[in-house]
Amino acid sequence: MRFDTFAMVDWSGAPDTGPRPKADAIWAAVARDVRAEAPVYLRNVRTAEVWLNDLIIAERDAGRKLMIGFDFPFGYPAGAAARIGGSPDPRALWDWFANAFKSLPKGEGRFHLAARLNARWPGDGPFWFNGLQSDIAGLQRRQPDMPEGLEARRMVERNAKGSFTVWQMGGGGAVGSQAMTGMACLARLRARHGDSIGVWPFDDGRAPVQLVEVWPSLLKAEVAERMTTDPDLPRFLVKKTGQSVPISVPIRDAAQVVVMAEAMWPLQQAGRLSELLDSPPMNARCEEGWILGIGHEMSLSRMFAHSMAEAHSRQALSNDCFALPPGVHWTPVDEALALLRDRLHPVVAVETVPTHATDGRITARDHHAPRANPPGANAAVDGYGFAHGALVAGRQDLPLVEGRAAAGAPFGGIVPPGHALRILTGALVPGGVDTVVLQEDCTVSHDHVAFAALPKPGANTRRAGEDVAQGALALPRGHVLRPPDLALLAAVGCAEVSVFARLRVGVLSTGDELCAPGATADPARTYDANRPMLLALVARWGCVPLDLGHVGDDRAALRARLDTAGCDAVLTSGGASAGEEDHVSAILREAGALTAWRIALKPGRPLALGVWNGRPVFGLPGNPVAALVCALIFARPALGLLAGAGWRAPMGFDVPAAFEKRKKAGRREYLRARLRDGRVEVFGSEGSGRISGLSWAEGLVELAEPAQQVRPGDMVRFLPYGAFGF
Ligand code: AMP
Ligand code: MG
Repeated sequence: MRFDTFAMVDWSGAPDTGPRPKADAIWAAVARDVRAEAPVYLRNVRTAEVWLNDLIIAERDAGRKLMIGFDFPFGYPAGAAARIGGSPDPRALWDWFANAFKSLPKGEGRFHLAARLNARWPGDGPFWFNGLQSDIAGLQRRQPDMPEGLEARRMVERNAKGSFTVWQMGGGGAVGSQAMTGMACLARLRARHGDSIGVWPFDDGRAPVQLVEVWPSLLKAEVAERMTTDPDLPRFLVKKTGQSVPISVPIRDAAQVVVMAEAMWPLQQAGRLSELLDSPPMNARCEEGWILGIGHEMSLSRMFAHSMAEAHSRQALSNDCFALPPGVHWTPVDEALALLRDRLHPVVAVETVPTHATDGRITARDHHAPRANPPGANAAVDGYGFAHGALVAGRQDLPLVEGRAAAGAPFGGIVPPGHALRILTGALVPGGVDTVVLQEDCTVSHDHVAFAALPKPGANTRRAGEDVAQGALALPRGHVLRPPDLALLAAVGCAEVSVFARLRVGVLSTGDELCAPGATADPARTYDANRPMLLALVARWGCVPLDLGHVGDDRAALRARLDTAGCDAVLTSGGASAGEEDHVSAILREAGALTAWRIALKPGRPLALGVWNGRPVFGLPGNPVAALVCALIFARPALGLLAGAGWRAPMGFDVPAAFEKRKKAGRREYLRARLRDGRVEVFGSEGSGRISGLSWAEGLVELAEPAQQVRPGDMVRFLPYGAFGF
């Protein structure tokens, strides 16, 4: 079995009332790719049960195979199930717990249940630890002697160093309470979903949803590393002894579920997962259960180390990712683009979104059709259906079968050979029908239909799956979803889409001269024109625009602003050249992460590219005309790669020029342009401060590097603004 989705749940027996995330609530994470989605905070068993139920339904409806891992024992040491629930079958034990919780007297909980169960054994019974203030008769606070013949640990726990006994009902690391509330919850889900849920290793493994026991300690090192390297993990405040202010630390349980969910992919990819699923010994399969991965610890940690390294290399951009080959003076535009294309990769997480809300989003994996379109053969017109093979060419006069077939209201019977049936557009073609004649070509009496000529076999019908076969690729990974794509996904039954999280792009203006539009009449000040333009632009590109405001020509302020910017990439404007007031390039250079790109481009030239705290910074020129051209030519495709959409070159077309221009060799030029009467005209001035020309224009004319003399009527390349996504 190949899983499409891995969900990992870190269970907690203690109820939490929320709403602020607590460290020891229930946490869950879902991975439908090598990257898990953001961990989900589930504050108590009831919330978790609703979430699990929704997940099971969503995955089942989308035709995806789902593994859900839980970190509590699925059973007790051999012999206990029969003693507790009256049957050695662990599934019966689960059901027993579900009922037991339901019928507990008010005010009693899992500790009382443990006390009652102890009475079924001679002596003190196996359960111990009381989390309540008041004593409970029959429940020791400390570990008693085990009843004769009963193990303190399951076989798998005897093989898992550092694991806890399931008899301990509380205290740091204990799992006794979790086991009880967890088994009861899973029993309720099984009752609701019947055969679609299988429990490993008790069942045959064929059900589309598999519940599996996992143990985060197998990934201790990986979890620890994740907690120090992943800034996006949920955090909580703790006050450490000896410290006066609380500090914010990442929540371990959240890190655990993320790491476990992501670890499953490389295991499955390498074919190791099925091996692990096949490995539990026979007695574990009957009653006790097993922890996925126990017995294979060494090879697992190697596998995880490898997959983590791979994930990290996918994530962070190296500091030198924009480095140019040494000795290069002016870089041609295409070379600069090739370099960006080569060095950048997606840096965003993956999330699941209802199909109707995915316009503009980017698919994070291939999406295959859960159902064919159309799902069954149906009529393409209103008319009369019959079996072609029963007739000979020429004029027809067929007896009509009573009833009709309509869209959504199929005809239940079989149409006998030589007969016809009234059929409407979209109706499933009933048995005994393979061809439909158009109603306009027919003459109908009360019980006969006549038509002059026999249509071709299969005429006016649509074959099942003729548009999209079941299981066929509907949309590939990296596809930017547009309204027609939403129709396609819906038509084949994808209720949800796995998409990349939106790229968060910060926009920052720099320069002492800048102020807000209208803030002053002082002619020495410049109104900030780039920021609204760039923010609107990245929003059009499907990114989340983050306004980082404006900083003066001050390196410390600039550094501080970049340090606190919570985004995936930054566009700055101004200060990108090599002058003494060009602080963007200066601080990037100090950080050792600058490449000042001298691009053979007009308008544009200095483009400072650097990596700040692992996030790419595009230092655009301050001049609004150059800022826009550089954003369109360089930032747009680069952001597309970071966002998961792959490399997209703008689509242009050749049109006769309505202008005259002489251009020198050696650099590429973009002119502000628009189409009128099938010819392209350019803005009257090429002055780089002429912002009105940007607004006047409807696109750009691209003039290639070689020298060129353009005369009216010559063909030139026009790139409409639409080609740049706005
Ligand atoms: P710089 O690249 O910082 O040398 O700036 C080049 C020119 O662009 C200067 O005239 C700046 O005043 C102008 N400029 C820089 N940033 C902006 C902005 N955000 N809006 C309008 N003009 C700007
Ligand atoms: Mg400046």
